[in-house]
This record gives sequence, C-alpha cells and structure tokens, in this order.
Amino acid sequence: MKKVLVVGGVAGGATAAVRVRRLDEKAEIIMFEKGPHVSFSNCSLPYYLGRVVESKEKLVLMTPESFKTKYNIEARVNQEVIRIHREEKTVEIKNLETNEVYKESYDVLILSPGANPVVPPFEGVNLPHVFTVRNVADIDRLHQYVNQSNVERIAVIGGGFIGVEVAENLREAGKVVTLVEYSPQIMAPFDEDMVQILHKEMLDHGIQLIVGDGLKKITENAIELNSGKQVEAQAVVLAIGVKPEITLAKEAGLEIGELGGIKVNANYQTSDPSIYAVGDAIEVYHRLTHKPTRLALAGPAVRQARAAADHIYGQKTNNKGVIGSSSVKIFDLNCAVTGLNERAAKEANIRYDSVYVIAPDKVGLMPNSNPLHFKLIFEVPTGRILGAQAIGKGNADKRIDVIAALITMGGTLEDLKELELTYSPMYSTARDVVNIAALVGLNILHADYKQVHVSKVRNLVEQGATFIDVRENHEFESGHLVNAINIPLSELRERVDEIPRDKPVYIHCRSGQRSYNAVKILQHLGFTNVYNVSGSFLGICLY
Ligand code: FAD
Repeated sequence: MKKVLVVGGVAGGATAAVRVRRLDEKAEIIMFEKGPHVSFSNCSLPYYLGRVVESKEKLVLMTPESFKTKYNIEARVNQEVIRIHREEKTVEIKNLETNEVYKESYDVLILSPGANPVVPPFEGVNLPHVFTVRNVADIDRLHQYVNQSNVERIAVIGGGFIGVEVAENLREAGKVVTLVEYSPQIMAPFDEDMVQILHKEMLDHGIQLIVGDGLKKITENAIELNSGKQVEAQAVVLAIGVKPEITLAKEAGLEIGELGGIKVNANYQTSDPSIYAVGDAIEVYHRLTHKPTRLALAGPAVRQARAAADHIYGQKTNNKGVIGSSSVKIFDLNCAVTGLNERAAKEANIRYDSVYVIAPDKVGLMPNSNPLHFKLIFEVPTGRILGAQAIGKGNADKRIDVIAALITMGGTLEDLKELELTYSPMYSTARDVVNIAALVGLNILHADYKQVHVSKVRNLVEQGATFIDVRENHEFESGHLVNAINIPLSELRERVDEIPRDKPVYIHCRSGQRSYNAVKILQHLGFTNVYNVSGSFLGICLY
C-alpha cells in the first residue's frame, strides 16, 4: 500500500490528494494544512468584503470531515510540516494547537505550499491595521476591522488582480479607497493602451488611483508615499505580489529554480524523484518564450496537481508549458488576457505586431450591446498568435478563451480568420470581434495598409501631424483631436483635394472601421502615405 503525504490543503494540494484517491483506492493519503481550513476558495476571498459572498463559512468548500467521508483522505488542519528528512522518507509535523511535533513516513510526498504575500520592511508594516489577503482567516480579520465604524478610509497597496479586487470590494462596501501602484499602470498583464480603460473605470467608481508612486511608510492614520504625498488611511491592505513558499523545499536541499520557485521536471517531480511539487511554489515552462516562468493562478495549480498524481501511478503528462490566461472583473468591466503582451514579446525578442479593434460584443440592436476593446498580438512574419487582451461590459473572457485555445494549438491569424464560432444576435456578431481582429492583423501582416498605434497619437499631434477625422460633423463637434480636419467618410471622395499628398496623413473615426474604409479609398486614389489609427477615437480618448 502506497503512503502519500500532501503539504498544503487548498488548490493544488486538495486536487492532488483527491486524484491520488481516484487512482488508488488502497493508498493511505494524509494532507497537512497549517491553516484552519482546507479547500477554500482563495479566488473568492475579496468578494466577502463586498458582500457578494455573504458569509465566511461559504468560502470553505470542503472540511476535513467531508474529505474523510467522500474520499477517505485524512486532512489535518493546523498542522505545519516543518521538515523533510529525505534519506529516511519522513516529514516532521508541528501541531499548531498543541505544539507537539511528530513524524510521518511517506512513499511519495507532494508539495503544494503555495505562495506568501510579499511584505517589504516598510516602516509601520507591523501595525495592527495593516493586512494581507491569503486565506479565510486573513479576510475575516480584514472584514471585521473595516466594519468598525471609525474605519472609513482604506489604502490598498498594489494594483495586481488581488489589490484591484480588494479595492473594488471595499469600495462596493462604501469605503473611501485609495489604490497605490508603484509602476505607471495597474494590472501588469495588460498593455498600457488597454489599461487606460481600467484606470478610467476605477476613477469613475470613486477609487482614488495613484500610479507611479510607491509606499514609503505607514503610520496610525495615514500612509506616506515616495513622492512625499500623505494619504489618510485607517486600514492598509498590502497586495504587492506573492513569492513562492520554498522554505521546506530549500531546507531539504531540493533544487530551486532561477526565478526562486521549486524546480520541477515535466512531470512535476522535484530534484528528488519521490517528491513532487505543484502550484504557486514552483517554476514552470512558458510555451511561447521557452523560458522558466512563475504563474500564481488556480487553473495551472489544479492541472499540475492532477498531472503529478497521474505520474505517481505511471501516467506521463504531455506537458507543453503554460501561456498565462487570466480574467478579472473591475466594476462594470470584464477583463481577460492570455499569452504574451507587448512587453513580454519584446523581452522574449519575438518580432511581433498588434492590432486594436473595438467592435460591438453583440448585434447593436440587441439590449446591452456594448463595445468590446480587443487587442491581438501576433508574430511577424509568421502570423502565429502570441497573445490577446479584451475589456468590455460583455463577454471578454469568452473571446480570450478562444484565443487561449488557438495559442495552445499553435494557431495563426489565418486560423483565427477562418475559425467558425457560434453566432446569435444576443451573443455576438456574425463576424465576431476575434475574427475581425484576425482580418485586421492579416491586412497589417500583408502590408495591405499601414497603421499607427493609439499610443503614438499624442506625440504625433504635438509634432503637428495631419489627422483626418472621418466621423460625421456632429460627432466631431462633440470632441476631437486638436487641429484635426473633419472630412466625414460620406464626403471623402468629393473633398479628396483637401488632403495633402506630400506628407503622412493619419485617419481615424470612432472605432477604426470607417477610417479603414477611408484609408482604402485614399490608397485607390493614389495616396501612398496614409495610416489608420488603430484604436481610433475611442482609444485616443482613453489614452
Ligand atoms: P494555495 O491554494 O495557496 O495552498 C497552499 C496551502 O499550503 C496554504 O493554505 C498554506 O497554508 C499551506 N501550507 C504552506 N506551507 C505549509 C506547510 N509547511 N505545512 C502545511 N501547510 C502549508 N487564481 C486564479 O486563477 N484566478 C483568480 O481569480 C484568483 N484570485 C485570487 C484571489 C486571492 C485573494 C488570492 C489570495 C489568490 C487568487 N488566485 C487566483 C490565486 C490562486 O488562489 C492560487 O494560484 C492557487 O490557490 C495556488 O494553489 P496552491 O495549492 O499552489 O496554493
């Protein structure tokens, strides 16, 4: 009979334990969790603050009792594994309730200890009103604290998805929330052109957003930033990032990778073949950059856990690495991203280009039809799809899931152009935004016309470049670029003489479609130096 020990009782640990049981009814399986709960929904924690999740009890999905009755797995909570003795194949465990230390032997050990919130040594970091969010106990403490009557202003430090979700939920609970992010933008997986939409959404919903400034110190009633700015705060939430929990692995002499995560092979075995590791604690292979990466997400953790358990029982996994797909709701916007963004493509030295398409998420006549901002990044000259970002009130995640599937299959712009998707007016348009992006991408790839990215527009305007706005007069009147010339598409053929031929001309409309038609007309009329503004006025307004 095999004896399998599991360290960590949440996403990766619980999945691995249950999979082992499905593969082997006779195995003895013990899962150790140092916290008071196993199998809770980490990802739902922020929603307890905003009362989307009504009670903390609902955050806990399984109990030690249900693990026993359903799976015959012994789940021991408040038990911290403090040492691994590889030579004798035992672990030492500390019962955190009694302080008793005892040993258990193993045939196979699975580590899924997760990642810890990063807490730099800022002055004041240990004050009682400073919080991090990792588990149910953390969120319960924070929830209780902020619900005291004197806690009105809260500072959230860090604009990653945990910080953003915590900020949103505290705002929804009626608090005055300041979100501070050290880099110039929140939500690093999104490019700077796309993320402006998210900045606006946060501001529109009353979040006081401070980007490009870092936390310096925390005092009893305020935070001070590097710029010297003071922000009043009766509570501070640190969401600066996470670092892999590798203490056990390191002390046991297991190999640690170059990014500080536990090093594993394709089957999630560590440098000791009897010890597997999965989840936030490990380094994984990125299938697009071919380099190690870290990916603290629940989906990869549970997939890795299943693969590790399978390998223990002789089933090899076809590990092709990760691409990084995630989604987040920010107030009224659904946001999703997959694969490489521009920064990651540059860092990986991949030649790429991108298109930014704004198209309706469903047929315009339908209720709740809204623009979906969609950015597609592809390799040049192959057209291989590298990444995508989508933001809108509609189904951004569905579009990104389509792209994630294509990236995983090595798909190209041609594949995406031909991809047959479902259509009904309530759900999408006959040519979905992802198909449109492929068509635009192919146009760019085949040099059918030239584009300029929305991020370049401000500089061009400052340099006095010629912009032609082909929207109708009334649209132009309600707001336009400084010095732009308004020639509606409907008048373009008659007024073509007003357009200079001896210098570059940049054409935009509201969302890029009319300007594309204008560019084609001008090309056919012999203009050689015309550019479509990718993202058009909707993108320009946000930038
Ligand atoms: P965890 O699920 O964190 O489990 C590790 C467990 O191991 C912990 O409970 C810890 O107490 C225990 N442990 C550590 N060391 C020991 C030890 N020595 N002995 C005993 N026990 C130990 N991911 C998404 O994909 N989408 C989301 O929307 C999302 N939202 C999130 C929101 C929040 C607030 C947080 C905190 C995370 C979120 N994540 C999200 C990330 C996701 O939860 C993690 O990627 C996933 O849980 C990782 O699984 P894991 O098993 O590696 O670690």
